[in-house]
This record gives sequence, structure tokens and C-alpha cells, in this order.
Amino acid sequence: MPQSILLIEDEESLARFVELELTHEGYSVRKCFDGREGLETALRDSFDLILLDIMLPSLNGLEVLRRFRREKSTPVILLTARDAVMDKVNGLDTGADDYITKPFAIEELLARIRTALRKQPAGAAGDQMSVGPVCLDALRHTVTVNGAPVALTSREFQLLQYMMENAGIVLSRETLLSTVWGYDYMGETNVVDVYIRYLRQKIDEAHDVKTLHTIRGVGYVMKTEDNHV
Ligand code: CA
Repeated sequence: MPQSILLIEDEESLARFVELELTHEGYSVRKCFDGREGLETALRDSFDLILLDIMLPSLNGLEVLRRFRREKSTPVILLTARDAVMDKVNGLDTGADDYITKPFAIEELLARIRTALRKQPAGAAGDQMSVGPVCLDALRHTVTVNGAPVALTSREFQLLQYMMENAGIVLSRETLLSTVWGYDYMGETNVVDVYIRYLRQKIDEAHDVKTLHTIRGVGYVMKTEDNHV
């Protein structure tokens, strides 16, 4: 099955051009021309990736992203206007995976799409797993703790999934960084600690459980308190 992309973009000529190029590359593409329709489509149907313009009628892209991220972890690439630095910062804070500045070369967009899709966890259909009270559904991109849904960003989801797949095994920062962020990651190495902190807040602290453990000087491990996973 081709990978599916939802394109939310109100400039119809640009949307048609991008659709044509993506279809040519073998993706299946759906278009929405305003924010509200785009959000509804993104929440209702399942896509491998979302391309989201920021300046949109009825609901702007950042608001679409904010509401979308409460429920789903599908990768999102923002389409931003030139030099809209605040949009980029806000977008990444809101849970975008990447952004591309208009006007862009189609080759650059294709490269970013490939990267974003590659970073996605390779969950088999219906792939569900649990560690104690934490359940993760890789297909639906949902996480629950004691049955209550947890809203994670795409990166938080990838980190959690990798830790759950390796539950009970102590994972070093370097391992997490190279696996979840990729070997080409050029940012700060303490990004792992930052994201572990986000996960702890959303999972352990918000639900009064203890699943994410620090092993001093070594790394992190996901397990339930009594060591049974
Ligand atoms: Ca626009």
C-alpha cells in the first residue's frame, strides 16, 4: 500500500503542484483547503504524514497542530512563510516534526518527507504493547495509562515506543539518541534527558505511576516497580 499524505494548504495551485509531485513519487495524497476541514480529516482518517500550512482560513495551522497533537502522533511537517521564525519555534514547541520554508524546492520537500517517514516507528498492524499500566498502540499512535489517554508529540511517542520495546533493559543516552533521533542528529545530547522529563510528567507524574527509571551514570530503563514487565 502506498504511504498516505494529508496536505492541508489553501493555495490551490501550490497544493495541486505538490499533490502531482507526491503522487508521481508513489504517495497517495489527500488535500484539504482550510484548517477546520484539515483537522477533522486528520483526526478521522489515518495518514502516514501530514503537510500543514500555517496561514490557513477558518483555523490556523498552529491551532490545527495543537488540537491534533492532543490525540495523534502522526508526523507533521509545517509549511511556513519565509522568515517566520516565531512560527517555526511555536510549531516545533507544539509538536511539529519539521518545517520547510516557502518557496521550497520540491526535492527538499521530498527529502524531508522521507526523513520524517523513516523516523516513524515501524509498528506492524495492530501492534500493541504494554509495560505495567502503560499501553501503546503503534498502529493508532495512541498511548494510555490505566486506560486514560495520554497526548504525546511524535518524538515522545517514538522514544516511549523504543523504551517499551526494550522494557527491562537499561538504555544509554547514546543508544536512545542514535535510535530515536538518528545518527545525523546535530543537537544537544541532553535532549534525551529533556524528553525523558516530558514523558515522566505526562505518564508517571500525571497518573501517579512509576515506569521510567534513571540508572545513574548509565541511562534509563522502562519497567514497573516490581521489575515485572
Ligand atoms: Ca496559506
